[in-house]
Amino acid sequence: LLTVRALSKRFGDVQAVAEAGFSVAPGEIFALIGPSGCGKSTTLRMIAGFERPDGGEILLGGRRIEAEPPEKRGVGIVFQDYALFPHLSVLDNVAFALARLPREERHAKARRFIAMVGLEGLDARFPDQLSGGQQQRVALARALCAEPRLILLDEPFSNLDASLRAATRREIRGLLKETGIGAVFVTHDQEEALSFADRLCVMKNGVVQQVGEPERVYYRPCNAFVAGFLGRTN
Ligand code: ATP
Ligand code: MG
Repeated sequence: LLTVRALSKRFGDVQAVAEAGFSVAPGEIFALIGPSGCGKSTTLRMIAGFERPDGGEILLGGRRIEAEPPEKRGVGIVFQDYALFPHLSVLDNVAFALARLPREERHAKARRFIAMVGLEGLDARFPDQLSGGQQQRVALARALCAEPRLILLDEPFSNLDASLRAATRREIRGLLKETGIGAVFVTHDQEEALSFADRLCVMKNGVVQQVGEPERVYYRPCNAFVAGFLGRTN
C-alpha cells in the first residue's frame, strides 16, 4: 500500500530523516518508534504532505505522491498540531470530508464513527467543550470517516487513560482489518508499539535501525541500540 524509499529531510545542521525506507501493507498497523528527535514526526509529516522531502520517494498504491498537496493524497491524519475546526460541532467535524453525500447519509455515517470512538451523545458539542482525550477521539473519527487508504497517527492515544486506550486500539484494529486501511503510528510507549503494531520500525538520529514484527525486533534486535531502546540488555 505504502512504500517509502530513501526519504530524507534536513533542517539546517540537523539531518532529521536520512534515507528512510519501509513499506506498509493494506490493513497493516505499522509503528514508528525511537527516542525524542529521531525523526518520527518528520517522517509522518512528509508522508502527509506537510513537509517536502529533500530526496526519496513516497508511493501510495504504486503512485508517487511526494509532489501532491496533502488533501489529494487520500491520507487521513491525526496529529497533535492538526486541530479540529473550532467553529464546527463534533458531528460536522467528523462529517467534514463527506460533503458530497446527502445530509442524512452524511450524519448517519458520522454518528457511526462518533460511536466507534466512544463519544455517543456529544454530537452537538464544540471542540472547546471537550477534554483533550475527547478531542483526540473526534480527530480520529474525522480521519477514519473520510475513508482514507492510509491513516497517519502521531501519538494518537496520548491523552487517553489506560482503559480507554485499550478500547480505542481494539476498535481501530478491527476497523483497519475490516477495511484494509493501513496505519502508520508514532508512539512513545514501547509497550503499546509491541502489543498494537503488526510491525515496528525503530529509528535513531533519522536513520532506520530495524523493521520487523514486534517479537522479532524484541527477541532479535539488530544492534545494541534497538535492544536497549526496547528495554532489553542482552
Ligand atoms: P519526538 O518524539 O520528540 O516527537 P520526533 O522523533 O518526532 O521526536 P522530529 O519532530 O521528527 O522528531 O524531529 C527530528 C529532528 O528534526 C529534531 O532534531 C528536530 O529538532 C528537528 N526538526 C523537526 N522539525 C523541524 C523544523 N521545522 N525546523 C527545524 N528543525 C526541525
Ligand atoms: Mg514527534
